[in-house]
Amino acid sequence: MARYIGSVCRICRREGIKLFFKGERCFTDKCAIERRNYAPGQHGQARSKISDYGIQLREKQKLRKMYGILEKQFRGYFSMAERQKGVTGEKLLQILERRLDNVVYRMGFASSRNHARQLVTHGHIKVNGRNVNIPSYLLKIGDVVEMKETAKEIPQVLESITRMEGRGLPPWLGLDREKLRGGLIHLPTREELALPIQEQLVVELYSK
Ligand code: SF4
Repeated sequence: MARYIGSVCRICRREGIKLFFKGERCFTDKCAIERRNYAPGQHGQARSKISDYGIQLREKQKLRKMYGILEKQFRGYFSMAERQKGVTGEKLLQILERRLDNVVYRMGFASSRNHARQLVTHGHIKVNGRNVNIPSYLLKIGDVVEMKETAKEIPQVLESITRMEGRGLPPWLGLDREKLRGGLIHLPTREELALPIQEQLVVELYSK
């Protein structure tokens, strides 16, 4: 799969918000957004007029990059959301939240979605007792996600769990902190998600 190997902080600066790719560093004043909150590159500080299309495009890119997904797969999620009953934008966010790598990150096993993706692809995660190494695996309510015993000793995982305990668990997830096992209790509502995204702009972009 194609993979972006440049500076991830440049992505945050381009989108103008923290996308939390670097774990704990994102919460410190070393964060590039804290230091240089303008677009990267020679003309990053220049004022530019942005069209309606440009605004919609940036919002879509922001959401796509937040979850680390390539365009083709993201469009696939949008089509899936359109086929569901309800508000398409909210359905799209719910699908993204159901990805295994995202749930591993949200449960605090990993410091970022990239780290979570790595844990999944390296075979450290089980779903319903079976090995699953596909980060895009879509979880259902009631599926049980757990760390393999061997992964419970990885220092970065232990560090992430300790930090997560301080930050709390999203209300749509359940977690047994002793056994490092949990899953979706219900699908997140838009209010619960509190993402700095205007998903309606993404819907408008793809509906053209
Ligand atoms: Fe983004 Fe984190 Fe880099 Fe800050 S430190 S710019 S939030 S990746």
